[in-house]
Amino acid sequence: MVLKMQAAVVEQFRKPLVLQERDIPTPAAGQIVVKTEACGVCHTDLHASKGDWPLKPTLPFIPGHEGIGLVVAVGAGVSRVKAGDRVGVPWLFSACGHCEYCLKAWETVCGQAQFGGYTVNGGFAEYILADPAYVAHIPAGLSALQAAPIICAGVTTYKGIKETSVKPGEWIAISGAGGLGHLAVQYAKVMGLNVCAIDVDDGKLEHARQLGADLLINAKASDPTVVLKKEIGGGAHGVLVTAPSLSAFAQGVSMTRKLGTCVLVGLPPGEFPIPLFDVVANCITIRGSFVGTRQDMNEALAFAATGKVKADIELQPLSAINQVFERLEHGQVASRVVIDFADS
Ligand code: NAD
Ligand code: ZN
Ligand code: ZN
Repeated sequence: MVLKMQAAVVEQFRKPLVLQERDIPTPAAGQIVVKTEACGVCHTDLHASKGDWPLKPTLPFIPGHEGIGLVVAVGAGVSRVKAGDRVGVPWLFSACGHCEYCLKAWETVCGQAQFGGYTVNGGFAEYILADPAYVAHIPAGLSALQAAPIICAGVTTYKGIKETSVKPGEWIAISGAGGLGHLAVQYAKVMGLNVCAIDVDDGKLEHARQLGADLLINAKASDPTVVLKKEIGGGAHGVLVTAPSLSAFAQGVSMTRKLGTCVLVGLPPGEFPIPLFDVVANCITIRGSFVGTRQDMNEALAFAATGKVKADIELQPLSAINQVFERLEHGQVASRVVIDFADS
């Protein structure tokens, strides 16, 4: 008898997710099955459900790439995890392990990578099929609910900050203080950086201040580049753009100090113009950053396990997923919603 599970499924782009009964997956050789305890809701899941990006998921699919749970079934030949382990099933679901990028420990850009909740089914379901070589091992002492946002929002911002090469005592500007941004502020403070938080919502900015941001700018009320340069002179040594808004990208580049680096992680569909003369003459680096490697993941989780970085979470049942998406779309989620499967 095949047992059933609840899952939230995208059947059509731009349509509400459908709650369905699906077969509980069984692990083939080399695979594991995780019983979901918690799964964060990332803005990427919203982009996925709308088919926002050039590489679209194949319909129907189950989103979710911040799924945490306990291993309940282990396929033949699996030795890296065992039943009962608490693991996270992240965006980087798997990679080939032997291409030039994997060999350089840049598995995030492997051409054969699979993405959880995108190219393969993800964590908006009571059980998740996973590749044991790419799951995150959740440190003891970190709850499933607290770990969930760390395995995407946390690792992405932790890695993105490292990619700015900003040093302790220098300034980083973090554009977007939502799910990613509220964790970025905390990682940046732990790393000894001065933080300017930019958002279009005063509530998000007030939260960023409570988390240690030194300077706050509302991009709706004033021009962030003008304010930043007036307050700290010359711009920020590093900029991390998490906002899912194209205007934030042009602002991010113009806020970057000479010789500084602007790291792009937000993924609104579209393009933005780059002021070539300023970028060239000021020797500014603009670079993309995509989640993080397994080593970045371990480091990001270790900060959370010590309590130095703590996700601010709002719990919801799986059945509320469409209302959560609606609020996320309109900037009405304070930080991160986590689906609590104990309540679903
Ligand atoms: P979120 O909705 O939780 O947060 C976005 C924040 O940006 C909100 O606080 C919102 O008020 C703010 N914002 C909106 N417009 C702004 C503007 N013009 N200027 C400044 N702030 C603005 O979303 P999230 O889950 O943090 O995800 C953010 C983006 O990052 C999404 O596009 C998502 O797909 C992307 N993302 C990328 C990666 C990666 O690996 N590169 C990983 C995860 C998420
Ligand atoms: Zn994500
Ligand atoms: Zn590879």
